[in-house]
Amino acid sequence: MTQPVLSTLMSKHPDLSSLRENTRIILSGRDPHRYGGMVNPPVFHVSTVLAESIEQLNSRDYLEETGVQEMAYGRKGTPTSWALENAVAELEGGHRCLAYSSGLGAVTGALLSFLKAGDHLLMTDSVYAPTRRFCNAILKRFGVETTYYDPLTGADIRSLLRPNTKVVFTESPGSHTFEVQDIPAIAEVAHAHGAKVLMDNTWASPLFFKPFEHGVDVSIQAGTKYIVGHADAMLGTVSTTKEAWHELLECTGYLGQCSGPDDLYLAQRGFRTLAVRLRQHQASALELAEWLQSRPEVRQVLYPALPGAPGHEIWKRDFLGASGLFGFELKPCAEEAVAEMLNGMRLFGMGYSWGGYESLLIPTNVQKIRTAVPWRFEGPLLRIHIGLEDVDDLKDDLEDGLKRLRNFRS
Ligand SMILES: *Cc1c(COP(=O)(O)O)cnc(C)c1O
Repeated sequence: MTQPVLSTLMSKHPDLSSLRENTRIILSGRDPHRYGGMVNPPVFHVSTVLAESIEQLNSRDYLEETGVQEMAYGRKGTPTSWALENAVAELEGGHRCLAYSSGLGAVTGALLSFLKAGDHLLMTDSVYAPTRRFCNAILKRFGVETTYYDPLTGADIRSLLRPNTKVVFTESPGSHTFEVQDIPAIAEVAHAHGAKVLMDNTWASPLFFKPFEHGVDVSIQAGTKYIVGHADAMLGTVSTTKEAWHELLECTGYLGQCSGPDDLYLAQRGFRTLAVRLRQHQASALELAEWLQSRPEVRQVLYPALPGAPGHEIWKRDFLGASGLFGFELKPCAEEAVAEMLNGMRLFGMGYSWGGYESLLIPTNVQKIRTAVPWRFEGPLLRIHIGLEDVDDLKDDLEDGLKRLRNFRS
């Protein structure tokens, strides 16, 4: 029986395992010769997918259950979503991956996939604040209890485990306070207890931390950040081990979760240049982190890649690189002085999100959020994203900003 091209199975991916990462990120998830040689995957705007026969229609449930990527219905995946999902799974080192319509959607979908009423969740105190709100509002409503733990806890997490602890959630480094977690130590204890380890791996991207080599079962990316990379789409991904895949697939299907084709396309396009962008983010961030560390107005720089910074040793042991997002603590000063500094920045924008090509600088108020361990610092904390602008222009902008801060004081 001849089938229309669009409903045939995706061809098996070429074996990329012998290739280096910079090559795999270019090839993964793409299949140009399936679509007349077009370099990029087509953008499928689709809900209904017509079957040629009742037999083909009936075979779809079976194919879905066995994980075969065939078009059956828009929500259930298209070559546009598979191009992104297969590429992220390949580079992050997972079995398979599902795209979600935002990073937060990916976090909540992953939590719902592995928790049920009566379960207990261990959540890092450094977690992205909206994740915390989801646990406190929605998971609580459905009978899941959350305990927040000190992100610097390693194997000692054992003392917090209860018989019903099913998930240990990690985020490393935390995207506001940048504590680096001892993921292998946590994973060893969690697995011995039969709990799954989930990780928000957004800071490192799929390139700079390989979660599945360190005991993570489920890895989440706010693709909105470095994968999209251009501040023009919202997207999330969840990759899993082979063992955890079925639960994620099933729950995601029940939730009715899917992403728009144009956003999926933008994310897979952004992904192709992730390696080269991250190299520049890292080089500029390291240079500016070192420079900030030497400034008299700055008390401490929270960039794990900086020798001597908190978490540097574990970062060096487990990570393959550092992205462009970090924090720095000013010496105690008036709130108005910080406002004077931030309001006058020429290149650093003020806004949420990060991972795009542009530089950002915002104050962060973690004191009010923490519950397990009080935030230990004294001065105002700023979060900075180093974009792809010329690093010397960024330095000039920061230098002028620190001058405004200093002048306000005197
Ligand atoms: C931004 C972010 C998210 C949420 O991503 P959205 O796409 O904005 O929903 C989740 N985790 C971390 C660490 C983030 O920085």
